[in-house]
Amino acid sequence: MIEINGIFKYYGHHPVLKNCSTRVSKGEVVVVCGPSGSGKSTLIKCVNALEPIQKGSIRVDGIEVNDPSTDLPDLRSRIGMVFQNFELFPHLTIENNIMLAQRIVLHRTETEARKCAMDLLDRVGMSGHAHKYPGQLSGGQQQRVAIARALAMNPKAMLFDEPTSALDPEMISEVLDVMTGLARDGMTMMVVTHEMGFARKVATRVVFIDQGEIVEDLPTDEFFENHTNPRTEAFLSKIL
Ligand code: ADP
Ligand code: MG
Repeated sequence: MIEINGIFKYYGHHPVLKNCSTRVSKGEVVVVCGPSGSGKSTLIKCVNALEPIQKGSIRVDGIEVNDPSTDLPDLRSRIGMVFQNFELFPHLTIENNIMLAQRIVLHRTETEARKCAMDLLDRVGMSGHAHKYPGQLSGGQQQRVAIARALAMNPKAMLFDEPTSALDPEMISEVLDVMTGLARDGMTMMVVTHEMGFARKVATRVVFIDQGEIVEDLPTDEFFENHTNPRTEAFLSKIL
């Protein structure tokens, strides 16, 4: 579903991603971890063509992301994205947050879009909040709405960039539970997170990135038990 082949990404002359390769097969959940500033967010943004790459290739569902002829709005509508800070539209109700892109991008009727929004709010445990505004919800609730909004586009894959790191501790599990449910339902997911409990339980593979390089890319059990690189060991010893 997602194929990253030998990509290089520079900000100015500063290399941020160096010869990175990995892949996420259909139904897989790949957790990406690494120190702050190592390039995790940049990697995720490149997959969604929010940032261009200077070398290598990225394919999503067979589509070449950096081919100038690629229809980027169409590509992005196939990939759901959830950010650290929710990024809901503050002036729209929860229901309208979830309906907007369905109406504009997918041209669904109001009735179809509302039905989809209600079904998804139910799925993330947020039915009953449809007519509230984001500012009236807790962080954990807003993030669950953000997940519902991404799902409303029927994405082929979901990208998460530290979805729980802005949350108070007691709200982390309600978001991870929704993500775990998605994974169990077969969603293809690439998740930047330091929640290693989630990684152990849900991930099929774990990628460790340090200073722009993919240092480790292993099936989950192997990652935790048999990682070989001292940089991985140093990182895990700090967060576990
Ligand atoms: P992470 O998500 O792992 O913390 P990022 O991908 O955000 O790391 O950043 C990787 C590196 O790229 C860092 O050195 C950061 O300072 C730099 N960087 C990120 N975004 C930009 C930008 N828009 N312009 C210049 N440098 C950037
Ligand atoms: Mg980041």
